[in-house]
Amino acid sequence: MTIQSKTLSFTRPILVSFTGILIGFILIATLVTLNQRKDIIEDYHDINRNFTHNLAVNYTASILKENDYILDRAARFYSRNDELNGAVNVDPEQGLGRLMQLLVLMPRVFSISLADVDGHYLRAPQAVMRGDKNTYDPTTRPWFTHQALSSTESHYTDAYTDFFTQKKTITLYRPVVSPVGKMKGTLAFDLDLASLGYALRQMQSPVQGSYFVVNREGQAILHPDTGALLKQLIPQALMDKMTNGEGEIHDRARGIWYYYYAFANPDWFVVFTVSDATLSDLARHESVIVTWGFALAGILIILFGLYLRHSSRTVLMNIINAIKTGDVAQAPKLEATLSKTIISNKERELTYVRQATIDALTGCKNRRAFDDDVAALMNANQAFTLALIDIDNFKSINDTWGHLSGDIVLRNVAREGLTVMKPNGASVYRYGGEEFAVLFAEHSPGKALELLESWRENVAQRTWREENMSVTFSGGVGEWKMEPLDQLVKAVDEALYKAKQQGKNRINTTEMA
Ligand code: GH3
Ligand code: MG
Ligand code: MG
Repeated sequence: MTIQSKTLSFTRPILVSFTGILIGFILIATLVTLNQRKDIIEDYHDINRNFTHNLAVNYTASILKENDYILDRAARFYSRNDELNGAVNVDPEQGLGRLMQLLVLMPRVFSISLADVDGHYLRAPQAVMRGDKNTYDPTTRPWFTHQALSSTESHYTDAYTDFFTQKKTITLYRPVVSPVGKMKGTLAFDLDLASLGYALRQMQSPVQGSYFVVNREGQAILHPDTGALLKQLIPQALMDKMTNGEGEIHDRARGIWYYYYAFANPDWFVVFTVSDATLSDLARHESVIVTWGFALAGILIILFGLYLRHSSRTVLMNIINAIKTGDVAQAPKLEATLSKTIISNKERELTYVRQATIDALTGCKNRRAFDDDVAALMNANQAFTLALIDIDNFKSINDTWGHLSGDIVLRNVAREGLTVMKPNGASVYRYGGEEFAVLFAEHSPGKALELLESWRENVAQRTWREENMSVTFSGGVGEWKMEPLDQLVKAVDEALYKAKQQGKNRINTTEMA
């Protein structure tokens, strides 16, 4: 019989099931984690866009507007009557005083220039020209408005270095045009980029990153770090991608996000840059609890799987043990059915054992049981007495009344023997064809002989259904004296033989032989 060990084991289905559960779980966990990560990063994009918007609208634009407003009012003043000419050419001292009053209103403007169309100018504070720099000509300045360029709007120059202070500056200027359209000159405010940049430091970015203002060429106009001013901070190729409104672009190669807000005038961009690594870190940081939760749940699934595998093996072992011993503790329902099966299985097994040791015709124990029982007694050094019984003239019984009647005689002789022996704790065996053996483990040879005699008498006195039938037997009996079995059997057989010789229907002891 092949042993179907695989079909008898829970291990495989349990491992397959739990592997399936684990794979499904890992799949879900991965999807949830990825989705969560995407959501978190999207949230941070929103936060960063908002920050950029605030930086542009609420901060940078309001600072610029402040100066622009004053420039507008002052330019209107100089456009009237002869105010500009009066200030520059007629009474420069009073003109300078007025400009100084304006200057103190604007902390991030470091000088004001007022020039007429001919290049006569006033500068506040007044700059003293040194010998070698005696070549200052306002008409060459980027803010100087020539007739052809005149308009009433304010403009910003590109960044350049101030002639007098050598400061990096951008000038906010406005042509001074009379109400009737006559070009009178230019009013210009030199913005202190370093001071404007310092002000940016007050801002607190929501995530780690840097923020600054660049011109369309990508050069820093305002930067918290003055060393970075006018440096190329964003490659031209990326600048070209920035539209007029606001938005973000991703520089995949360098792993940087640029959130931007574009001004129309000046043509500047407020930019907030955040690296991919920063966003990933934030996402990882925020999803760490969920990730740990998933990891823990995964470990629990594995542990439960291992536990189930282990306990199923234990249950199998218990079932095997119960089948072997027939010992089943009380169990409910399904387990009760199992217990019943085990018990009936055990009973069937006992029946088989009984059938294997009982002689079918006579109901006595068989020869095999005799061999086992004698061996057990001898192994235990247990004193016993052996008797061998042989039915007299059985051949002629068979011959006279037939084999079937012979069987009935055998059965009845055995029954008589069992009736006498069994209550006295002696065992009767069918030893051969019409021969029986009796083992007395609990009796003296004398008592054994006494029991055998009463069996012999019962048989001899019995009346049989068959006419004129009488059945007797002869026997030999002897006590075991630690000799080997064949010697004992031989001695008892000799006693039996003697009894036959002496006329049958008698029992001889080995002592008498
Ligand atoms: P003795 O008195 O010397 O013992 O003579 P006997 O005829 O009993 O001895 P023998 O050994 O010559 O004959 C035994 C017979 O028992 C031979 C056999 O046919 C018969 N026999 C053995 N087993 C069975 C059985 O199971 N049923 C029947 N009906 N007869 C059996
Ligand atoms: Mg015989
Ligand atoms: Mg015989």
